[in-house]
Amino acid sequence: MNEIILIKLGELVLKGLNRRSFEDKLQANIHRRLHTFGQFRVYTRQSATYVEPKDDSCDVLGAYEALKNVFGIAGLSLARPCEKDKDAILATVKEFLGDQLSRAHTFKVETKRADKTFPMTSIQLSQYVGGLLDDAYENLQVDVHNPEFTVHVEVRDYAAYVHADAEPGAGGLPVGINGRAVSLLSGGIDSPVSSYMIAKRGVALDMVHFFSYPYTSPEAKDKVLELARLLTAYTGRLTVHVVPFTAIQEELRRSCPEELFTIVMRRFMMRISQEVAKRCGAKALVTGECLGQVASQTMEAMMVTGGVVELPVLRPVVGMDKEEIVQIARKIGTYDTSILPYEDCCTVFTPRHPRLRPTLAEVERAEAKLDIDAMVQAAVDGIERVQVQ
Ligand code: ATP
Ligand code: MG
Repeated sequence: MNEIILIKLGELVLKGLNRRSFEDKLQANIHRRLHTFGQFRVYTRQSATYVEPKDDSCDVLGAYEALKNVFGIAGLSLARPCEKDKDAILATVKEFLGDQLSRAHTFKVETKRADKTFPMTSIQLSQYVGGLLDDAYENLQVDVHNPEFTVHVEVRDYAAYVHADAEPGAGGLPVGINGRAVSLLSGGIDSPVSSYMIAKRGVALDMVHFFSYPYTSPEAKDKVLELARLLTAYTGRLTVHVVPFTAIQEELRRSCPEELFTIVMRRFMMRISQEVAKRCGAKALVTGECLGQVASQTMEAMMVTGGVVELPVLRPVVGMDKEEIVQIARKIGTYDTSILPYEDCCTVFTPRHPRLRPTLAEVERAEAKLDIDAMVQAAVDGIERVQVQ
């Protein structure tokens, strides 16, 4: 019989979120994430979700690895089914968990019995299996209070299952349960991390990237698409809206005081992102801004950039040290791609002395002679949508 995957749900005390919609969303996300690994049956019983391969062609181990990145999963384990018989269960434990048992010093057996017709109680079965394992492994001693290793046995309707303790899952909330946001993705370290963090709170994402060809190279765009692809391990399939940004930057260089160039440019990024958000039903914008990291990330600058849009701007890494952001980037696998040396549109025409504390009045004065709506519209009309998965 094929192994199955047992899943423990995350954040069981769900304030304001209904448990049923949590389970439904998670099941749908699991289905979508597993389609490349074969056909699986996914269902939930008593706060555990079960993922069962429908046939032998399924790649259960591949599916298990993929599920480690799915938000809403607190823990997961691989379980091996066997006949509902005490000696079959014992043999399966030895075969499936033997390596781990031979390395441990203390252990216990914990049994759950959904099938009440099984001839032994949970305690009797735990004692039977535990006693014989104790005899079989010289290194092992039973410790029911603080064991190094726990053998789990579940007796269910059609089979018994054995598994080890659950491994930690990705945590968070199922993607999509908290609506949709547009995330501004550059080629840097911070914005992939901020995208990951908001997705973890159950938010589906659309990505926006501002591209300044020929000032930035096609490789710079490929790098961003690769970052988005890496994020799909957590978010599922993504759309990257690649916005042609060169015309706006050239116009701003011509007509904008140099020290306000960056802040005015960032206001255009926000306006265009908000237009994208309207079209895809997103209710917030996400950036990788971090307080004090660069000139455009002072509180005054954030007020002036955030103030140009109605949608809330989520900045999940705003209070983090670079080192903390880097740690997450490494954990989620985006760091090595982020540090590849490609230029970003923000580094094109960078002023020598950007204004650290811009006021709204001076920025609005700088923008007064621009045809903002037409510039935004032209950029939106030129968007190229790239699907990544
Ligand atoms: P990152 O490491 O994410 O590039 P950063 O520290 O380089 O951030 P900035 O370049 O000032 O900071 O950008 C701040 C935020 O603005 C980014 O985190 C990202 O959300 C957004 N941003 C910057 N450049 C782009 C771009 N070319 N396309 C889309 N979003 C961008
Ligand atoms: Mg950047």
